[in-house]
Amino acid sequence: MHLARYPRVRLAHLPTPLEPMPRLSAHLGGPQLWVKRDDCTGLSTGGNKTRKLEFLMADARRHEADMVITQGATQSNHARQTAAAAARLGLDCHILLENRTGRADRDYQDNGNVLLDRLHGASIERHEGGTDMVAALSRAAERFRTEGRRPYIIPGGGSNEIGALGYVNAALELLGQANDQGLRIDHVVHATGSAGTQAGLVTGLAGARTRIPVLGIGVRAPRKQQEENVLALAERTAEHLEIPGAVTAADVRANCDYVGGGYGVPTAGMQEAVSLAARLEGLLLDPVYSGKGMAGLIDLIRRGHFGDGENVVFLHTGGSAALFGYAVNLLDAESGG
Ligand SMILES: *Cc1c(COP(=O)(O)O)cnc(C)c1O
Repeated sequence: MHLARYPRVRLAHLPTPLEPMPRLSAHLGGPQLWVKRDDCTGLSTGGNKTRKLEFLMADARRHEADMVITQGATQSNHARQTAAAAARLGLDCHILLENRTGRADRDYQDNGNVLLDRLHGASIERHEGGTDMVAALSRAAERFRTEGRRPYIIPGGGSNEIGALGYVNAALELLGQANDQGLRIDHVVHATGSAGTQAGLVTGLAGARTRIPVLGIGVRAPRKQQEENVLALAERTAEHLEIPGAVTAADVRANCDYVGGGYGVPTAGMQEAVSLAARLEGLLLDPVYSGKGMAGLIDLIRRGHFGDGENVVFLHTGGSAALFGYAVNLLDAESGG
């Protein structure tokens, strides 16, 4: 795994800090909790997509693209980080947003990530929930090509074997920090969606023969499908890195019990997790991903899933900009508690 062999542009503030969460650990009892601060990657309020975009944007340059196009949900953190990366590199950016929640309120539609997409100068095309977004993305690309443009297509979430290299790199970075600090990592837990983050992490951690288990907390698909998606992408990533066979099905674990009513639909567990992280650690989670990921971690701790002496690292994948798209749900929770 020699990442310097792969083209990369620098966009992220790295390494991101690895910090203890003493007050949340004490509040919950059980394992010692740590947080890997990928909410601090620096680009337009940060988040996990920036690491992927370092490799994807380099590939766009290699293809001599003059613009990038991508897709996501209305409050997509990926779309926002792509728009910012494109701005930084002087490329145009076109994004397709799917209203997966069916919400029509102003904050959801125009505040949070959507406000930032606009500030970064991206053009936006809106689609109803249930649209075949992969097909819509290739139609949009075709339209730009007939206009003489050279669009580079970034898949939803930046999740392909190129983007996943960002999380192979994150795995090596985390391992180096833990070794330097003398921190024995027993588990890594994070929110998993389009699968690139988990695929990259497990490829890096398995490729380095660490035997550190990674648990993805799902935000959309059922467990079997999520594990299949992660494994398939991890296998492609390992091939891309010329270490085929480095990842096996046993390395890929997801728990999709915390999705609730669907992608982007608030849950009581998410509201509690966002509130606890904010009040006990001064940390901003998000309503769609890291809030549900932390809700899963909290519930698993309460169920005694982790040993008392264990160290659990929560990978904070970012997303706080989406809080402003969901203010109404979070304020409800605060006034109730
Ligand atoms: C996209 C995203 C995730 C999920 O990462 P995938 O690579 O899509 O699985 C988690 N958290 C946040 C905040 C995200 O924006």
